[in-house]
Amino acid sequence: MDDQYRQKGRHNGPGRHLPAIAGGRPVRETYLPYARQWIEEDDIRAVTRVLRSDWLTTGPTLAEFERQFAARVGARYAVAFSSGTAALHGACFAAGVGRGDEVITSPITFAASANCALYLGAKPVFADIDPHTYNIDPAEIEKKITPATRVILPVHFTGQPCDLDPIHALAAKHNLTVIEDAAHALGAEYRGRPIGGLSDMTIFSFHPVKHITTGEGGMVTTNSEEYRQWLLLFRNHGIVRDPDLLVDDQGPWYYEMQDLGYNYRLTDIQAALGLSQLARLDRFLERRREIAQMYNEAFAHLPEVTIPYQAPHARSAWHLYVLALNPDRLKASRRRIFEALRAENIGVNVHYIPVYRHPYYRWLGDPDSCSLSGFYCPNAEDLYQRIITLPLFPAMTDRDVRDVIAAVKKVILWYSGDVSVH
Ligand SMILES: *Cc1c(COP(=O)(O)O)cnc(C)c1O
Repeated sequence: MDDQYRQKGRHNGPGRHLPAIAGGRPVRETYLPYARQWIEEDDIRAVTRVLRSDWLTTGPTLAEFERQFAARVGARYAVAFSSGTAALHGACFAAGVGRGDEVITSPITFAASANCALYLGAKPVFADIDPHTYNIDPAEIEKKITPATRVILPVHFTGQPCDLDPIHALAAKHNLTVIEDAAHALGAEYRGRPIGGLSDMTIFSFHPVKHITTGEGGMVTTNSEEYRQWLLLFRNHGIVRDPDLLVDDQGPWYYEMQDLGYNYRLTDIQAALGLSQLARLDRFLERRREIAQMYNEAFAHLPEVTIPYQAPHARSAWHLYVLALNPDRLKASRRRIFEALRAENIGVNVHYIPVYRHPYYRWLGDPDSCSLSGFYCPNAEDLYQRIITLPLFPAMTDRDVRDVIAAVKKVILWYSGDVSVH
C-alpha cells in the first residue's frame, strides 16, 4: 500500500490520494478527537446509587475508591483530590516545599507539573529531556541540583516511566523528595513494578482524557503515614480534629485550623465513577497498548517519521501516541502537516509546548524582555518542533485506527521528499 501511495501520492491523481487540505476528500467524514472518556451503563448506575444514598461527599465510597486505588498501584495509601493539579499542590505541600525552594521537573509536560511549585512560593527548575524517551534525563537533573533543591518531580511522559533508579539515587544523595507525576501513567510499570508505590509520593489525574475518569479528580499515593496525614490536612482547609493533635481542646465540637489548606476534596459521586472505571482499567490498558502496536507497525518503516522509542525498563500505559517528524525527509512544516491531518478530520494535537515558553514563565524568568533565558532546554526545543500526537483512547474502533493510519500515510507521503538533496 505504501508503494502505491508513494507512486501516486505526489501527483494530482485520484482524489483518494489528494490531501483534503489540497482539495481532496478527507479520510473521515466526522472528526475523531485525540482522546475521550469511555462511560458505560455500569458507571451511570454506580453514580446514581450514590445520589440516592446518604453521602454525596467524603463518605464510604470515597474511602473504598482510595483503598482499591492504592491496592491497584501497589501503594500503602491513596488520598483523593479534586484534580490532578490539586494532588500536585498537596504533594508539594506534604513534601514541605516553601518559599525559596526549588522543584526540578521536565519542560515537556502540562503546566500543572511546574505550577505546583509556584503555588507554594517555590521556583520550578527545568531539566532537559532524554532525546529518545522524551522523559527527564537524570544526568540533566543532577546538573540542576542546588542547595535550594527540595523536590525532584519526574513526569512519565505519554505513560512511559522515567528511569527511576538514578533519580532515587540522586534524591538519596542530596536528601530530596521524589514526587512522580503519573497523570499519564496509571497502569504503567517500571522494571516490572507498578507506578504508584515506588517514590515518596505519586500523583494521578482523572480528567476525562486520562486512563480512568471521575469528571475532574486526582490522587496522591504514598507508603508514608506521615505524608498521608499532611495530604488529608491540606485537602480539608488545614483542619485538625484528632484530640491528640489539638493545641487546645474546648469540647466535643472543637476543631482547629493549623495550616492554610484548601477545599480540594473529591465527592462520593465522583468516587463512585472512579471505582466503576477502575474495574475496567485492565481492559482500557489492553486496548491502548493494542492501538499503539497498530500505529507502531504502520509507521515503523516510514523514514519521514520516528515512532515512540520504548526503554527496556519501561512498560508504558500509553496515554499518548507521539509521532516525531523527521524534517530532513519532509517538504512541509510540522504546522502544515498538522493542519493537513486536521483537514482529514483527525484530531491531532501537540504535547507539549515546553512549559517555560508560556509567557507567564518567561516573565518570571525575565520580567522585562520575555526571553527564554535561564530555562532553555535544547532537547525539549528540538522535540517540540517535530511532534504530533495522534488520537489514542480505548473506545476507538479498529476503523478509527485505520482512518488515522490512512490519513497519516496519505499526508506524510504527499509531503515526502529528501529536503537535504535539493
Ligand atoms: C492532566 C495532567 C495534570 C493535571 O491533571 P488535572 O486533573 O487536569 O488537574 C498534571 N500533569 C500532567 C502531566 C497531566 O497530563
